Amino acid sequence: MSRVYNFSAGPATLPIEVLEKAQSEMTDYNGSGMSVMEMSHRSKDFIGIAGNAEKDLRSLMKIPENYKVLFLQGGASLQFAMVPLNLFSSSKKADYVNTGSWSKKAIAEAKRYGSVNVIASSEAANFNYIPELNAGMFSPDADYVHITTNNTIYGTCFQSIPETGDIPLIADMSSNILSQEYDVSQFGLIYAGAQKNIGPAGVTIVIIREDLLGKAQNFTPTMLNYKIHSDNESMFNTPPCYSIYIAGLVFEWLLANGGVIAMEKKNRQKAATLYDYLDNSERFKGTVEVNSRSIMNVPFVTGNDELDAKFISEASSAGFKTLKGHRSVGGMRASIYNAMPVEGVEKLVSFMRNFEQANS
Ligand SMILES: *Cc1c(COP(=O)(O)O)cnc(C)c1O
Repeated sequence: MSRVYNFSAGPATLPIEVLEKAQSEMTDYNGSGMSVMEMSHRSKDFIGIAGNAEKDLRSLMKIPENYKVLFLQGGASLQFAMVPLNLFSSSKKADYVNTGSWSKKAIAEAKRYGSVNVIASSEAANFNYIPELNAGMFSPDADYVHITTNNTIYGTCFQSIPETGDIPLIADMSSNILSQEYDVSQFGLIYAGAQKNIGPAGVTIVIIREDLLGKAQNFTPTMLNYKIHSDNESMFNTPPCYSIYIAGLVFEWLLANGGVIAMEKKNRQKAATLYDYLDNSERFKGTVEVNSRSIMNVPFVTGNDELDAKFISEASSAGFKTLKGHRSVGGMRASIYNAMPVEGVEKLVSFMRNFEQANS
């Protein structure tokens, strides 16, 4: 059996070393005689797994002491509600930047609990760029400012993090957490569903500054209260044990491979390989403004729907899978997360070059 190059936006490719390690431990974890799937979340083995996962994530992202790390469920989509439920604490106003479908969903959810000010949007240009932000745009009394650092569907990414002063900055980092260095202290809260750049679906990472805990609105369900999860070390109820275990293996893999600095270097190299080709191609072109480009998700088109379909089909037969673009952009999208090897992108580009020649 051979592995393909899987360019899926999520759930997405995982390091083969991680899958093989999980396979080797599948039926007997560490001499326990049972699978991680079968073990009590209160057992010594699982407490060890969860503790190591947190320790490794802290070390990878250099998470300061005054931040809590939570392993939750419900995906990034539940965070669209948990953020306003927990952080609309004073003015019940928040500033949002609308950079795509996920931002829009976050905005719609926040509106249910307070007042939302969309301070910038690239919607008129089908979200093909990140709007400029400056300090004067933020509402001085906002409870928080929300951004989506990387826009999975449109392939855009904030190239710098806005300075929001005393207003907590909240970031949906679902599709680029651990792909490049970020200074966690610039954020009040970071959240990310795991299935893009971390591990399997089912676990959501929340990194929250301690002073933002304990401010939930009265009607917030217990399970949606960050403080409850923080006070209970993410074990208020049964956590997504197996997803946490695999995420932990990915964190170990990242540490063994040079950490986030090394990943960022590799990711920039992969993205440059693809963008350089797109910029010089007569057949394919990228859809995003150059200075807003993501290094994780790269949408591109031929400008001809039939040719796009032909490319996707021939690429799939050649072992380059899940390249079909999201319906709101069309064409193709290559998601090149941490686990995509450099070689996968190089081979894709040479396949594209051959396709271009055959279809010129
Ligand atoms: C995938 C994605 C989401 C939704 O994640 P779920 O875990 O499916 O809820 C939200 N935001 C961004 C940026 C994403 O890429």
